[in-house]
Amino acid sequence: MNDDLGIPTTSSLRVIPREQHPISRRNISKAALRVLYRLNEAGYAAFLVGGAVRDLLLEIQPKDFDVATDATPEEVKALFRNCRVIGRRFRLAHVVFGPEIIEVATFRGTGDEEQGGDRHIVDGRLVRDNVWGSIEEDARRRDFRMNALYYDISDFSVRDYVGGMQDIAEHEVRLIGDPETRYREDPVRMLRAARLAAKLGFQIDPASRQPFASLGDLLEDVAPARLFDESLKLFLAGDGLKSFHQLEGCGLFRYLFPATARVLEGDDPVPRQMIEQGLANTDARIADGKSVTPAFLFAVLLWAPVQGLAEVRIAQGQDVSEAWASAVAQVLAEQTQRVAIPRRFTYTMEEIWLMQPRFEQMQRR
Ligand code: ATP
Ligand code: MG
Repeated sequence: MNDDLGIPTTSSLRVIPREQHPISRRNISKAALRVLYRLNEAGYAAFLVGGAVRDLLLEIQPKDFDVATDATPEEVKALFRNCRVIGRRFRLAHVVFGPEIIEVATFRGTGDEEQGGDRHIVDGRLVRDNVWGSIEEDARRRDFRMNALYYDISDFSVRDYVGGMQDIAEHEVRLIGDPETRYREDPVRMLRAARLAAKLGFQIDPASRQPFASLGDLLEDVAPARLFDESLKLFLAGDGLKSFHQLEGCGLFRYLFPATARVLEGDDPVPRQMIEQGLANTDARIADGKSVTPAFLFAVLLWAPVQGLAEVRIAQGQDVSEAWASAVAQVLAEQTQRVAIPRRFTYTMEEIWLMQPRFEQMQRR
């Protein structure tokens, strides 16, 4: 039997007891443990979930810890003084411990408005999802099987409703349910598949990869602010070079940087070398714990289109500095329609670029 999203509804819970998995409380942040224990003591179900469980099973130290519970956001708020309820599209509780924020999400279900929930689907796309449900329903709403594992603080077991343990063992990124339906519901899942495959060194399961060619265009309608957030995760989280190669292999890079992708289709090897070098430098800085700025990397990613356009205009007889200024303006205008790079970064990008022709002239002299 399938529900409205083409997700099989047959239950197949597997419980992996503590002695059969490597997750230790030593590797879970103190803040996350406090949230889990407090919820549990108050009589609520409390699980670590998502990327943290996946990463701990792979013996990678997680970046952040997400908690899932049967308590509503308001019930969570009542338990913690340092808590605020956020979000409209996905209402959540944030419990704040100094610099660390633990995201606490209530199990999401499959019901509709008539059941008192708040879910809104437009053209097959999920624009609001605040229908509370069971843990199993919550698991099936997630994107990949490896992201739908729950670590139970009451007995330290891991619960697997969708076959996530198999994908962790087989190093495979695999969507839950029918891939086409799940990508139509949220096209960003295509980028997430590529990003997680790059970060974890996993393969993308053929059935989860196959729709990229036909559904990639859906990324053109995703909010540019969301694509900016996803671009940061792709290129400024330590695995930028691998993400770039994975996106290109998947045919998805052109949806984030269309002008750059057009240049990369040409014969000149230099733009690619520059981009790969910029990404490698950024990855190395992150590995060394140094700071990185999106402005520098985006300036590198978009340099070839800026340069190409400026050269065309100079060849057409435009004044050199005017040609550069208008090329910068045009490339940025087009790019920010796709990926909403905030003004504070585009300002620095302009400065970096406009230094280049002067620098080149100085070298020639
Ligand atoms: P990382 O934090 O390493 O980048 P992650 O898997 O933790 O990867 P998050 O964006 O932190 O990614 O999301 C946390 C969890 O929320 C995911 O593991 C997944 O279960 C769920 N999730 C995130 N984005 C989506 C989505 N677009 N569709 C369905 N589920 C999602
Ligand atoms: Mg995460």
